[in-house]
Amino acid sequence: MYEVIGKIKNDINKKMDPFEMRKYKSEIIIYEKYSEGLFRIEENDYLNILFEFDKSKDCTLKSSTYDGEVRGVFSSRSPCRPNKIGITTVKLLKREGNILLVKGLDALNDSPVIDIKPYVASFDDYKIKRTTLNSDKNSPRKDIIRMIKNEEIETLLLEAGRLHGHFCPGLALGVISSAYAMKRISVSNDGMEKVLAITETNNCMSDGIQYVTGCTFGNNALVFKDFGKNAFTLTKRDGKGLRVKVRNDYRDRISSEDQEFFELFDKVVKKRLGTEDEEARFKLLSQKAAFNLIKLSFDDIFLVENVSVEIPGYAPIHDSIICKNCLENTMQTRIKAGFCLNCYNKGYMELNGLGISKK
Ligand SMILES: [Zn+2]
Ligand SMILES: [Zn+2]
Repeated sequence: MYEVIGKIKNDINKKMDPFEMRKYKSEIIIYEKYSEGLFRIEENDYLNILFEFDKSKDCTLKSSTYDGEVRGVFSSRSPCRPNKIGITTVKLLKREGNILLVKGLDALNDSPVIDIKPYVASFDDYKIKRTTLNSDKNSPRKDIIRMIKNEEIETLLLEAGRLHGHFCPGLALGVISSAYAMKRISVSNDGMEKVLAITETNNCMSDGIQYVTGCTFGNNALVFKDFGKNAFTLTKRDGKGLRVKVRNDYRDRISSEDQEFFELFDKVVKKRLGTEDEEARFKLLSQKAAFNLIKLSFDDIFLVENVSVEIPGYAPIHDSIICKNCLENTMQTRIKAGFCLNCYNKGYMELNGLGISKK
């Protein structure tokens, strides 16, 4: 048994995506009887709030969670649980008497509060090495899905930079457009070709697309149409997708500093004639331009259309055959007259910075 110590007041009156709920501010009003217990609470930055899901339905022992996976109730944060207790870490913004103003509480208006405990980094943060977490191994894109749902575009861009090697407007375009499409189509992606991304460019943008959508060169969910356009389509296997393209005039909306970036781009990247100083300046401007782009409104940069596209079949799995010459195991469809295409020395396709070509 427990006593209710207060009530939550906010503008969340119906159930919604918990990621959306966490954007709201809430007041936690502590009953007079318990207000002395708030002594020195304002010294904490974060609090763990225990509250009651008093409006939630009966307990469901198994349900689908935000990353599209089915999990048991004790392996999820579902409100439909045997004791209807919610626990969320929130940011404490302000205390006014017996009222705490907090951000990040995914509770409905009027929910009863059961307990409050400070978040203490030395107790609550286990400093666990991410590589040891089974939850990460079972669902490696969990954090990316959370970032997409939460529209944490800056973090997505920072992470995509690890793949791409630098920050540039192209990468930012890929990240912003993909995060938008993933949220609109509302898909999770386990890299098994459930979702496909069709990119129309092999420039920097396509790395943003690969990182955010999880449709990659290696998992066969990336289709490359060598059209040379800053556009891509995200689609489920029914072929109904969303095509996002960069507006022709988007550069009119960027700042003068970013205009300087495009001038330097010409000299440093296109003509390869930049001095050391110009290269350094270019790198800095490129990074700034990328992070400035994510501050613009989506509609100022992109146009979106619903499309129906033809989807390739699942990638076939072929047996391997040993090449007569180099004795290397080779996919059987890439064997000609007993030789691998490398030893045969012609008739293969190559994708490189210039596009796809037959050799
Ligand atoms: Zn780039
Ligand atoms: Zn060979």
